[in-house]
Amino acid sequence: MSVRRIALERVERLLDLAWETWRDDPDRARRYVELARKIAMKGRVRLPRRLKRRFCKRCNAPLIPGETARVRLRTNRMPHVSVTCLECGTVYRYPYLREVKERRRKRSVRGGGERGQEEAQR
Ligand SMILES: [Zn+2]
Repeated sequence: MSVRRIALERVERLLDLAWETWRDDPDRARRYVELARKIAMKGRVRLPRRLKRRFCKRCNAPLIPGETARVRLRTNRMPHVSVTCLECGTVYRYPYLREVKERRRKRSVRGGGERGQEEAQR
């Protein structure tokens, strides 16, 4: 197994721990995030999106929706997800215009007939 692979696994494990620990011991949870980030840096691994969005880059708090983070969909100017760290107030914005365009494209290709089916499956 490659070093990077191992580093990534540890990072993920530490982030899991940080999420679990937050309620009981926020300081320890922050420490886990800090360690996870250090490991990623040392192993020079680029964190995949799902991991990158799980903590606050500014204050190292795990970003738990409904607990340490406020997550909102917003469509002013551009459609985006806004994640606010409730610990330090930093706001992260993740645009999802590409996904919207993708969906529009699929819809126009398939035409209106199948749309009802798709809705029913949900
Ligand atoms: Zn923060």
